[in-house]
Amino acid sequence: MSAPGVTLTLRSEHLASLGALLFDRTDVESAAYVLCGRSAGEDGSERLLSRAVVPVRPQHYRRRERDRLSVADESFVPVVKRVRTEGGALLLAHSHPDGPLAFSEQDDREEARLFAAVQRRAPGPHGSLVFTAPDELVGRVWRPDGRTGPMARVTVVGERLRVLVGGAEDVSPIFDRQVRAFGPDVQRVLADLTVGVVGLGGTGSAVFEQLLRLGVGRLLLIDDDRFDGTNVNRVHGSRLTDVGRPKVEIASRTAADSGLPTRVTAIDGSVLDASVARRLRGCDVVFGCTDRQLPRLVLSRLATRYLIPVIDVGALVDAHDGTIRSVAGRVTTLVPGASCLLCRGQVTADGLRAEALSASDRERLAAEGYVRGLDAPSPAVVPFTTVVASLGVAELLQRLTGFMGPRASTETLLRFDLPKLATNAVPPSASCDCADASTWGRGDEEPFLGLTWRQEAPAR
Ligand SMILES: [Zn+2]
Ligand SMILES: [Zn+2]
Repeated sequence: MSAPGVTLTLRSEHLASLGALLFDRTDVESAAYVLCGRSAGEDGSERLLSRAVVPVRPQHYRRRERDRLSVADESFVPVVKRVRTEGGALLLAHSHPDGPLAFSEQDDREEARLFAAVQRRAPGPHGSLVFTAPDELVGRVWRPDGRTGPMARVTVVGERLRVLVGGAEDVSPIFDRQVRAFGPDVQRVLADLTVGVVGLGGTGSAVFEQLLRLGVGRLLLIDDDRFDGTNVNRVHGSRLTDVGRPKVEIASRTAADSGLPTRVTAIDGSVLDASVARRLRGCDVVFGCTDRQLPRLVLSRLATRYLIPVIDVGALVDAHDGTIRSVAGRVTTLVPGASCLLCRGQVTADGLRAEALSASDRERLAAEGYVRGLDAPSPAVVPFTTVVASLGVAELLQRLTGFMGPRASTETLLRFDLPKLATNAVPPSASCDCADASTWGRGDEEPFLGLTWRQEAPAR
């Protein structure tokens, strides 16, 4: 899904510490290392994920001048050791306080020497960055055979989602009315984004519909569910004649009929299969639109381990005997450092256990009073699912544009019946997996996401 080549995702905290380290002095160049995890793409592409920033110590500069720099081997030996142990990648970042925003011939010689030594200890690809300001940079890739190439894309993930290097070149005039709202640069970023949508029901189909019309470049749709007649009241783009059809096919048809430039990949499968969940690694953002607990646990892990913001969307109508008691909507954004769906009680151990039971086991245990029985289908009404989907897509726009101003909240709660809109930022609970910073940006590992996966059914 992502463009081939090597790209980089930095946590915003790491970009900030690089800015502080590299521009502490502007009379000479400065250098720092970035330790990265790896995320291998389907197409041979690779994404590096920042894990830690390590300064070059003052005594480790062999030369440090206004326009050149050389670091001693002692400086990188311990970082390379860690890179090798973790199976990660190493970036060398340095400043050009007086420009240019490019690698110099001196950089070519110095980095060729350094990366030859690094590749012997820990085979790459690795990379290097030149900064002329705390958020102005270019990057390049150092391949194991000594070849170099441009770092095609650099994104930053945190309170905001930024594309520092990359973005589509052209903006289609069909998006004129929204370019008037947030400018051509944001439109170029949208056209270059790969966004996953997990679950194409009431909320997911409304999220999909809006991402398509915003001009998102690539969409990866995942759902193994079939459309049934009672879905037509809320699944956008659906027809009564779609009964039995995979929900992702309905969305693909909507995209094809629209003629819009978005490239859509539809997977009729479940993120509970590792082979399907792995496909999400190519996404810049993922929308969680499933009401099941185990898929949301998978997405929570994806957010921290792959630095992929997950915007989890849910609507809940509480009705009794045909009368609405409450209608709640929730948009929770999962990023490293924010509490996950487990911390927030949206995914619970009991819920996961009950979901893992077969229908007959569950009914038996329910009869014995151990778990809740299989619920009757929950109420779902199109204005509620659609508004919550819109809130989720607006959250993506906030992260791209900052139109809501600086804000640390990671959850928006909507009560239609009161009516009331509230935001919060709950810190992770210390014992939760999401609070373990050593997993942030870890990338590829065995087993995938550190989870136990079910045996996969043969491909249908
Ligand atoms: Zn340089
Ligand atoms: Zn958590």
